[in-house]
Order: sequence, then C-alpha cells, then structure tokens
Amino acid sequence: MAINGTKYTYEELVQRARERATEENLHSFQVERRRLYLVKSRKLKPGTYHMVRVHRSGQVTCDCPGWERWSVCAHQQTVMKRLERESARRQWLREQYQQIEILEQESQTGESQQEQVEELEAA
Ligand SMILES: [Zn+2]
Repeated sequence: MAINGTKYTYEELVQRARERATEENLHSFQVERRRLYLVKSRKLKPGTYHMVRVHRSGQVTCDCPGWERWSVCAHQQTVMKRLERESARRQWLREQYQQIEILEQESQTGESQQEQVEELEAA
C-alpha cells in the first residue's frame, strides 16, 4: 500500500487512522448497539455522516472511499476505539461484580461459621 509514494503496512495505516480520529475529534453515534454507528465526516464531505458497520465476523467496515481503498479509515477506527472502551468498561464492571460476590460469599461463610461456634458453645 502506498500513499504519496510512501509504503505503509496495515498496522501503520491503522495507527495513522487512529491519530486522525483523535486529531479530528471524531465522534460516533450509535444507531444499533454493537452493529451500526454513524461518524461525522470532517474532511471528505463535511456535514455528512459515514456509516460504520460491525459485522458478525468482527470486521468493522465504513462506506467512505478511504475504507474502500485501504480497508482502514478514521471513522472505522473511531468506532473500534469506542468498542474497545466499552468492552474495557464491561470487563471492569464484571470484575467489580465478582469482587462483590466474593465478599458476599465470605460474609456468608463467616456467618455460618459464627453460627457453628455458637452451636458448639451452647452444647
Ligand atoms: Zn470511513
């Protein structure tokens, strides 16, 4: 792949697209949760939106010419970043719930041990 005569690897293209997403302060709007998002076009057609789809295969596609050409674009990466953030948050929440469950289990076993001690003392 070559842009202005410079060759880039796929990873470098992703990196560039991520930087652009940050620089251009791109935001995604959720149409269908984890399925379809809209990202405002800043350069190609200001004021319009690009449609970014999350496919069952995990592939994330965009309808802009950049994606058609390189299979990577700033809109796609905007959505990728959002999905990563959301999955990190889900993971964090899951860990919090697990901690609460462990604490509840510990307090329950603590209670039952206390009951056993009381039973022994009463006997
Ligand atoms: Zn795009």
